[in-house]
Amino acid sequence: MTPPSSHASEPEGDLPDWIVWQQRPFPDANLLLLNGATPALIDSGYRSHATATVDWVARRTRDLELVVNTHWHSDHVGGNALLQHRGAGIAASVVDAEALNGDAPDCCLSKYLDQPVDPYVVDQPLADGDIIRLGNADWQVVATPGHTPGHLAFWQPEERVLAVGDLLSTYDVGWVNLALDGPAVAATALESLQRVTDLQPRTLLPAHGALPRDSAAALDAALRRAQRLVDDPTGAVWYGARRIFAFALMIRHGIATSQVEDYLVARDWVLDAARLLELEPVELARELVASMTASGAVAVSDGQLRATADYSL
Ligand SMILES: [Zn+2]
Repeated sequence: MTPPSSHASEPEGDLPDWIVWQQRPFPDANLLLLNGATPALIDSGYRSHATATVDWVARRTRDLELVVNTHWHSDHVGGNALLQHRGAGIAASVVDAEALNGDAPDCCLSKYLDQPVDPYVVDQPLADGDIIRLGNADWQVVATPGHTPGHLAFWQPEERVLAVGDLLSTYDVGWVNLALDGPAVAATALESLQRVTDLQPRTLLPAHGALPRDSAAALDAALRRAQRLVDDPTGAVWYGARRIFAFALMIRHGIATSQVEDYLVARDWVLDAARLLELEPVELARELVASMTASGAVAVSDGQLRATADYSL
């Protein structure tokens, strides 16, 4: 296991010293510690690096009070169970909290996406407009549904800093699931982006990739990408499938080429995507592998199909 600092770089932006942001490669979300009077961590990475996440936090603050989740995907909540066991509270959207604390099936879409998550409970449900003390300041909870129904961003108006989760990064916008969340979900994601654009943030803190150097330009590019997902629902389904499959390859460090089709046609997300695209699941599986191979997103080595993006297990 590689510690999260191995591929990471500190931002060059002018963040106050109590906001500690550090990039790390997939399958983890970036690290974001709001230090000070109320030490809080926004998102906790993937489960395989939970101990490294705990160690990173412990080097910077004594008593982590809260883990705050932008949403419940496995790369954002993988350290929750360990941090909760060590005394931190967990805050997440009301939508995620009701599912996680109730008996809703398949919380975190763990089975659906085939992404393991260690179980945790939500201590503090967050609703749009709530004010929450994190680090040394009050942050506003901004509901930003789309990528997931319960997705949240966190806005600090004095510093004009916005933690955006998977709403956008320097290279993409969060994928959407038209099968689970309905045909209007791409428009919902676009509205969420428009909403945070209107805040005119000075600094965006994304959960993946680098710190955008120009927030307005990053939001502008994200709005155009999100609009394309609205205009091209078929493309949006393929985009989500590529993202989910690349992540599956990363967390398994590849899948044997002889087993890739069997793996894919057994996945709920593949069956859903195939239905929307009016393809047989095996046709979708073959097209997915072919198109991702052609684009260079995946490649075969040692008999394994692997993601080519930077990742660390
Ligand atoms: Zn996500």
